[in-house]
Parts: sequence; structure tokens; C-alpha cells
Amino acid sequence: MTGVCCVHGVYRGSCARLGAAVAGIGRGLCGGGQPVDAFVDELDLGEAGFRRSRPKATGRPGYNPADMLKLYLYGYLNRVRSSRRLEAEATRNLELIWLLRGLRPDYKTIADFRRDNRGAFKAVFRAFVVLCRRFDLFGRELLAVDGTRLKAVNNPGRNFSRDKLTRYMAAADERIAGYLAELDAIDRGEDGQGPDRRKALAAKIAHVRKRRQVQAAMLEQLNASGESQISLTDPDARAMVSGQKTVVGYNAQVAVDAKHKLIVEQHVTNAATDMGLLAVTAGAAREALGVERIDAVADMGYYKGEDIEACEANGITPYVARPERGSAVANGRFPKERFAYDPEADAYRCPGGQLLDTRYRSVTNGHVSIQYSSPAACAACTIRARCTGGRWRRINRWENEAVLERMARRLAARPGILDVRRETVEHPFGSIKQWMNQGAFLMRGLEKVRGEFSLTALAYNLRRAITLVGTPGLIQAVTA
Ligand code: SF4
Repeated sequence: MTGVCCVHGVYRGSCARLGAAVAGIGRGLCGGGQPVDAFVDELDLGEAGFRRSRPKATGRPGYNPADMLKLYLYGYLNRVRSSRRLEAEATRNLELIWLLRGLRPDYKTIADFRRDNRGAFKAVFRAFVVLCRRFDLFGRELLAVDGTRLKAVNNPGRNFSRDKLTRYMAAADERIAGYLAELDAIDRGEDGQGPDRRKALAAKIAHVRKRRQVQAAMLEQLNASGESQISLTDPDARAMVSGQKTVVGYNAQVAVDAKHKLIVEQHVTNAATDMGLLAVTAGAAREALGVERIDAVADMGYYKGEDIEACEANGITPYVARPERGSAVANGRFPKERFAYDPEADAYRCPGGQLLDTRYRSVTNGHVSIQYSSPAACAACTIRARCTGGRWRRINRWENEAVLERMARRLAARPGILDVRRETVEHPFGSIKQWMNQGAFLMRGLEKVRGEFSLTALAYNLRRAITLVGTPGLIQAVTA
């Protein structure tokens, strides 16, 4: 046994007390070391895509990826994610010393392993999902899909949108104009200040001009690329709304099985909203669970006709509440739900009892919709003020709106399913952000944060599985 003896505080290759302590830990670990050890030993890391760490220039062989993966999994399970802290823990944490058999990789090697193998962590996450499936930990009937915004390594002050840049440049122009006016006043002798003030103003003008030039260059870059934002520290991070705040970060999506709240599928994107992400997330989870059909519930942020339709075509029965959007709702007028579609007549019956049967077809970005109205009925309507601010009301219907109507009927038949969604997804997100203290990424770039989140989700699942079946049960499942 090698390592740093926590009793004597020095490196001892053969410390008897350390050896005894480590042997004791091997019999009853508390930080999840034993299941991590058993799980990683059963993996085919080459197939998962792991590379052996590079040998040292001195000729020392590179670390076995299994040891490095154990180190990371143990760290993520125990709220230790930074490479420097992992390096320190590997020398003083007895459970980790046991797990690594006394190996002491330096922080650079640890950091390089996570960076170089970022694409392989997802395969390890999936391998654990397969294991949980074998152990019957998934109900395989209902998935709750949700996304959360996690902060990136990018200060909000170093993120710029077109609007922000335009605003900053206008403010810079205003400041420069103010300084120039002050200079003119000095030249005319109206301002009693002398050459010192003139010099200070010239310096300020030069400074603001320089900053404005940088902003103009960024705006040009945005216009050329078609992107909506620029982030200077982490170029892939985006400003996105998270509750009442705006964070610069990433959108982490999960599909959680309702039986034991285990994560079945996860991926990270820099899309600012969840719209359009239901079919891809639930579809991958359905495949991972190996079922023909599965129910999936999500909040109204996922309400998008084409995505709901894609779910149905992909073996997923979606349940997404309809959001109340549009100017009529914002102005307190009748929402669309008050208008009943009559398929026989291909027309809407309005709250005033009139049939809106004048149809106008339009196509916007491939989205085909039909507008229903009845100008004559609206002209004579006594409740028009409660319905529209214009001369007549129009109701838009997507050409495949029957998909959404079917979903509304399903939701009406299972009203409790939205509460199940909340309880199911709150558990992983609450645990990840609060208990595991992983509400922000440490790495930069979309591919790297994807690898990081795979480790986070795997650590959550590991912790959950240990709680559900206990350490011996999990080890037995791994080695069976
Ligand atoms: S304004 Fe037109 S659509 Fe609205 S309730 Fe009256 S008749 Fe019906």
C-alpha cells in the first residue's frame, strides 16, 4: 500500500495504521467507493471510447482509465469535481486511497482525463441505465421530461446580444457627444477649466471610442454569423431565462422514469428554450428502456405542434399542458379554448354562438395554418369588445391541430399527471443543484459540458440506486 498517511501526515509506503484503516474501509465504505469500484471494473472502457492517459516524458506509464474514471465518479458522488480538489482527496481520503490503490495522479493528469474523454462519459451513463434496467429499477410506463439552466464559466458581463451591443454603442455615442460638447465649451472659454480637464476629456473620448470599436466589431461578427449572441469566455454559452433571472449557461435536458425517479436520458444544449426538445429527449429514453410505446409528460414550455406530432410518430404518447399565449389572452379577451372546432363543418363555434367558416390558408416557414373568421357575424356582435380589438376575430388552426386536440383529451382524462411530472423531475434537479452542489459547469464548450453533465447524471443515478437497493445489492447486480 502506498499513499499519504493521514495519521503521520507524510508519504509512507508501508504505514501499518494506514494499511489497517484502508483494509477496514474496504469492508464498509460510506462514500460509494465499493459500488463505483465494482461498476467500473465491469465496463469495457475501450468500447466506451476511453483513451489511456499519455505516458510521462520520463517514461512513466499513463494511468489506467479505469482508475481515473473511479476517481471522477467517486468525486462527483461526493461533491468534489475540481481536478485540484480531486488531487488533494486522492492523497488524504482513505476511501479514495483504497479505491485508487494508493495512486496519486496530479491535477493536470486528472483534468486532461476529463477533457480528453468527454465523449465517452455518456456511454458510461448509458451502461448504468442498462444495469438499472436489468435490476428492474425502471417502471418503463411514464417519463417526465424537463430542462434546467446551469451556469457556464462565463460572466454575464461578457455575453453580448445584438440588442445589448446596439444599446451600448448608442450610449457610447451619447457619452462621446457629451465630452465633445464639453471640449467645445472649454475652447470657447465658457468653462473655467484649464488644460488638465481638456487632457482628461481627450483620454475619456479615446477610451470610449476604443470600446465602441470592439462592440461594433462584435455586432458585425454577429451579423455575419447569423448567431444571436456572443460569449467571450465560453463561446458556446448563451444567455437564457431561468425562473425570474437570466443566466449565461446551458440547458440540461433530462427524461426521468416515474417509478424511482432515475434519469434515463440526458443531454445538454445551448438552446434558450425547451421548445422542440421533447421528441428527441423522450425518444432516446424510450429506446434506452427498450419499450415500444411510453407516456411522456412535460411542462408547457415544450408545447409545439410539430414536436408533439413527432412524439406520436416515435412511440411516445405526450402529455403537455397548453400555454395561454397570444395577444387576446394578454389583453384579457376570450382565449382560443373558448372557440370549439366543428370537424363536420370545418369551422369554429365562437363564444357568441356564431360559426366562423371563412377560411384563409397561410404558410410560414413550412408551418401551414388556416385562419377562421366571420366578419359579418362580428360586425353585429354585442360582445365584440370582449373578443377582439379589431373589426373581427380570427382563429388560427395548424393543419395538424387534431394532434393537439387528442392530447388535450388525454390530459383531461388524467389531470393528476402534471403533478406526477413535477414530483418526478424535481427530485433529480433538486438533488443535482442543492445536495450535489452541481448548479454550475466547471468546463468550457458544449462538448465538454456534455461530458461533465453525463458524470453528474451518472452520479445522481448511482446515489439513487444505492439508496434503493443498498450497496451490497448494487454490487451484486453489477457483478451478476
Ligand atoms: S366578435 Fe365575432 S368571434 Fe367574437 S364572439 Fe362576437 S361574433 Fe363571435
